[in-house]
Amino acid sequence: MQTTIANFINGEFVPSQGPRTTAVYNPATGEQSGILGLASAQDVRSAVIAAGKAFPVWANTPPLRRARILNRFLRILEDRIDELAQIITAEHGKVLSDAKGEIQRGMEVVEFATGAPQLLKGEVTENVGTRVDSHSLRQPLGVVAGITPFNFPAMVPMWMFPVALACGNTFILKPSERDPSASLVLAQWLKEAGLPDGVFNVVQGDKEAVDALLSDPDIVAVSFVGSTPIARYIYETATQHGKRCQALGGAKNHMIVMPDADIDQAVDALMGAAYGSAGERCMAISVAVPIGDTTADRLIEKLAPKVRALNIGPGTDPDAEMGPLVTKQHLDKVRGYIDAGVGEGAKLVVDGRDFRRQGYEKGYFIGGSLFDNVTTSMKIYKEEIFGPVLAIARAKSYDEAAEMINEHEFGNGTAIFTRDGDAAREFAHQIQVGMVGINVPIPVPMAFHSFGGWKASLFGDHHMHGPEGVRFYTKLKTITTRWPTGIRSGAEFVMPTMS
Ligand code: NAD
Repeated sequence: MQTTIANFINGEFVPSQGPRTTAVYNPATGEQSGILGLASAQDVRSAVIAAGKAFPVWANTPPLRRARILNRFLRILEDRIDELAQIITAEHGKVLSDAKGEIQRGMEVVEFATGAPQLLKGEVTENVGTRVDSHSLRQPLGVVAGITPFNFPAMVPMWMFPVALACGNTFILKPSERDPSASLVLAQWLKEAGLPDGVFNVVQGDKEAVDALLSDPDIVAVSFVGSTPIARYIYETATQHGKRCQALGGAKNHMIVMPDADIDQAVDALMGAAYGSAGERCMAISVAVPIGDTTADRLIEKLAPKVRALNIGPGTDPDAEMGPLVTKQHLDKVRGYIDAGVGEGAKLVVDGRDFRRQGYEKGYFIGGSLFDNVTTSMKIYKEEIFGPVLAIARAKSYDEAAEMINEHEFGNGTAIFTRDGDAAREFAHQIQVGMVGINVPIPVPMAFHSFGGWKASLFGDHHMHGPEGVRFYTKLKTITTRWPTGIRSGAEFVMPTMS
């Protein structure tokens, strides 16, 4: 059955006014499951008006009351996690346990945001001058927008809106057009939790909706997560329109395997980090850098049979470790990268291109692939593949490996596997990457820390959620107060000082 997927504006599901639509597919079967009405500039404007009207009351709602609504939302998520996971798997393709994992990580941001009264506490200094006091406070920005990618249809929106709402802003979400349904479930559950109409809105759509958000004078801040070319465009366009912007981009995450590493532990870590969610994670490890040929040979000997034995199937199969890719176009793109790697002379140790799953021949499945002898000049090394393809790029020394990472365009995540505390400390200290794991392959910071990469993996000044999220979604105001009880010093024309 095909459903028509709508927008959520001012507490109601409303169809898009524009004529354009796009199809939504179940990646496991290749069947169309829905029709998405793409929001026009007029639909976006309706959402902005609704969010603008809701803002003054929401901004003046005591933070504790805002937090209580988020607490109720959290309980709904806990009770209905299975329902939301099914919706994610049906449109994204990831296995159900992984879908639940992303919801759980999103819920942790909601938990963090329920601390709003504490998070928004300002600072006070008594006697900055004689009988003069100062205090600072954080106030909401206004109507803010979030534009999100396909790969985490619940978690990435939840990196943004719980903190934005806790801080007193109203929010417009533009989810990925490839898996749009989770956003509407979140909107409905927020309403059920008691969120006033207009505080959280969803506009479906593509570039047209995004451009309308970026140029709307009533939107004051934009959060974006997606690929680097679009992140750069969003950052440049939003800031040209005078908006605050944080735009997180793509990645190519390396994992160094030192000669002293526990190889079995490194192999297990690589299997999950490279092939989990079919490699469609911005924190996936896509390059392993073993130090020395002996380490590389030991690693590949243990890794290759495991890659061949990956259990690949529909996300609803409880035994599946990896589901299909998100779309047919993405499947073709990933296959194209594997062809390119072979063409450039990398050694294809495991070839996943011909994988077929019986009964799901029209699904967008591909097997896990493993390349050896990948060099830094190859396309499969330089570009983000975003599929289950792991490259082994051998290095002779730790210094050579660290230089490779530091010279790469992206700087999202990285890891080192070693028993050597000196090497680990040096790595943590000098590596030019935003999120670093020591014997931890996917070092995604918890909700009360902040998430973000460096270099072409993030444009803007603020990482997401945690303390950085609160800073992004608030304006700082500092108030200096004097109560003149009989003191008169006359007009002063010099800069006030403490002399
Ligand atoms: P994408 O850049 O294609 O799309 C992201 C969003 O931008 C979507 O909402 C989409 O509708 C919109 N968009 C696409 N093209 C646009 C255009 N020309 N103009 C305006 N808006 C446009 O990304 P994706 O394929 O959905 O997601 C995968 C990418 O996201 C990967 O590169 C991955 O690394 C990245 N990602 C990064 C992080 C991070 O934290 N750094 C997290 C998750 C995903």
